[in-house]
Amino acid sequence: MLIDLSELLPFEEREREYPVSYERSRILDYEVSESPEFVLHIVHHRGNSFEISGEGTLGVIIPCARCLEPVHETVLFAADCAFDFLTGLDADEEECAFLREGFLDTDELIESGAVMNLPIRVLCREDCKGLCEKCGANLNNGPCGCGEETAPTRMAEAIMAAMNAANKEKTIRQKPQRK
Ligand SMILES: [Zn+2]
Ligand SMILES: [Zn+2]
Repeated sequence: MLIDLSELLPFEEREREYPVSYERSRILDYEVSESPEFVLHIVHHRGNSFEISGEGTLGVIIPCARCLEPVHETVLFAADCAFDFLTGLDADEEECAFLREGFLDTDELIESGAVMNLPIRVLCREDCKGLCEKCGANLNNGPCGCGEETAPTRMAEAIMAAMNAANKEKTIRQKPQRK
């Protein structure tokens, strides 16, 4: 949705509320399963100074990091920003990606807020057994019977974790000692 901010310019110190929901079907590469409506508050203070606030949630489908089965996640986002209508810059002098020639693009606003809160790694369950590296079978459904007895996906994770721990130790040891 595009909100025409110029409509608010004649009014100072007045807040308006807009019922808003995410209208895109994807966020990054993930499918959006739910986009509940939330209230976006927009205040035009004076001059070209605006402030927006609001928070909501998105339902996002993210594949399990081990078995790739879809997992439903709820992602929170918050909009809390003051900006200049003419320059399109926020309080930190950074460009607001959601502003477009006097319009506020609510999808852009929600996306930039929600992307930051997307989980880096999702598991369908704590003890997900992952896929068999040999035949690709989902080992949560039982042993695949192809002869690959261990769950290599988990083994790979264990090796990576051990390597990371060893690297960390090395970096700590390499730090110059203070005298
Ligand atoms: Zn899984
Ligand atoms: Zn197998």
